[in-house]
Amino acid sequence: MKLVHDAELCEAHGVCTAVDPDRFELDDTDHLIVHSIEVAAEDLDTVRQAVESCPRQALSLQE
Ligand code: SF4
Repeated sequence: MKLVHDAELCEAHGVCTAVDPDRFELDDTDHLIVHSIEVAAEDLDTVRQAVESCPRQALSLQE
């Protein structure tokens, strides 16, 4: 699975960084850095939680 981040929708709420701090990080200017868009099977539950937690629906998963 691949993670898709829509920067137009993202408002840097940072919920995703709290759910999965290894993958998501806000930089000094409040831009979201996604460290990897490749989602391994063992990481899928955590990434799904981040996707579902985003208040802007800025994250999605694709096959
Ligand atoms: S939770 Fe959503 S809006 Fe907030 S930083 Fe993450 S992707 Fe952006």
